Amino acid sequence: MSSAGKTERDLLGELVHSPVWRVVLAAMREGLLIVDRELTILVQNPAAEQIFSPPPISSRPLRLIDLTRDPALHEGFLCAFDHGTSVELRFELRRGDPRTFHVTITPLHFAAEEPQAALGVFVEITALERLERMRRDFFANLSHELRTPLAAILAYVETLQETGLNDPEYARHCLDGLFRQAQRLHALVRDITDLAEIESGAITLSLEDIPLRAFVEDVLALIRPQAKERNVALANEVPEDAHVLADPIRLTQILQNLLDNAVKFNRPGGQVWVTARAVGERILISIKDTGVGIPPADQPRIFERFYRGEKSRSRETGGSGLGLAIVKHLVQLHGGEITVASTPGCGSEFTVSLKAAVSQ
Ligand code: ADP
Repeated sequence: MSSAGKTERDLLGELVHSPVWRVVLAAMREGLLIVDRELTILVQNPAAEQIFSPPPISSRPLRLIDLTRDPALHEGFLCAFDHGTSVELRFELRRGDPRTFHVTITPLHFAAEEPQAALGVFVEITALERLERMRRDFFANLSHELRTPLAAILAYVETLQETGLNDPEYARHCLDGLFRQAQRLHALVRDITDLAEIESGAITLSLEDIPLRAFVEDVLALIRPQAKERNVALANEVPEDAHVLADPIRLTQILQNLLDNAVKFNRPGGQVWVTARAVGERILISIKDTGVGIPPADQPRIFERFYRGEKSRSRETGGSGLGLAIVKHLVQLHGGEITVASTPGCGSEFTVSLKAAVSQ
């Protein structure tokens, strides 16, 4: 009891019923709970109600245990009462989609020496933690991707230093290897730069009416050398009248990446078809191959940065795992969508939907 004859609860009651306080509570995005020493809930703002979804109103006072059984949270409140100091902790809500919160618990001293109430503020950090995880994964993947070609370059240089120069044929073999690994590093840096540029929103598109068949023919010409080397046939079956509204540089990048994969993951004697059809105001461009296919479990993940299916097979092909992430971003930047359908052992089909150009 305070000198003015009011209990902590009276003082809190006065505060809680003030209209300004109510507005503040309702406007807060952070969840707020005030509990007494018995961990009975004295105040709960709407954000906290949304976090804990309290049980239906009962005749007895609501207690912290009715909202959550998390031992660390109970411990945190009790500790704030016992020591009279603030406590910070991480709280995980496992109901439905897991959510995480940073919680600060502060003992409240109004009139009495001992705190009779404690305030818990819940700040959601689910998205922040996810971003942090993505950042860590990105750097782990990146250093892994850099390490492989760099280790090979060092090995070639050491061999050249030790014996290679005495044997011109072997020296040439080392130089070829050095060139391949340097190209791989170059492609990786180019992909990372592209992705960073796209993700930062720094890219603006210059949309043009593109006659698709002729355009696809030009992109196929870029792919033809590697298709020939792997004995994969390329077919352009895009109708003459298909026109899309796209940025030519970015559309080249999209098609080149998809075609490159269609050849790379194909079998000798295989085939790649490019077709297109109009559906409403959109053109669906399909790149279909007779390659190794993509296991169903991998299909939703192949558009993630650095994700590669069945590692050993992909590594032989030397890609960075960034190609499809770039393609997806570029397609979305055009207001389009990309989907994949695939049967392992038979082949894959990537479908890109873009706006049709009106002049068709
Ligand atoms: P990369 O080609 O550098 O490995 P991508 O992002 O282009 O990276 O592709 C990611 C993964 O998706 C590939 O490693 C491969 O496992 C799978 N993939 C993509 N296209 C095809 C395809 N046409 N056929 C089979 N698998 C494919």
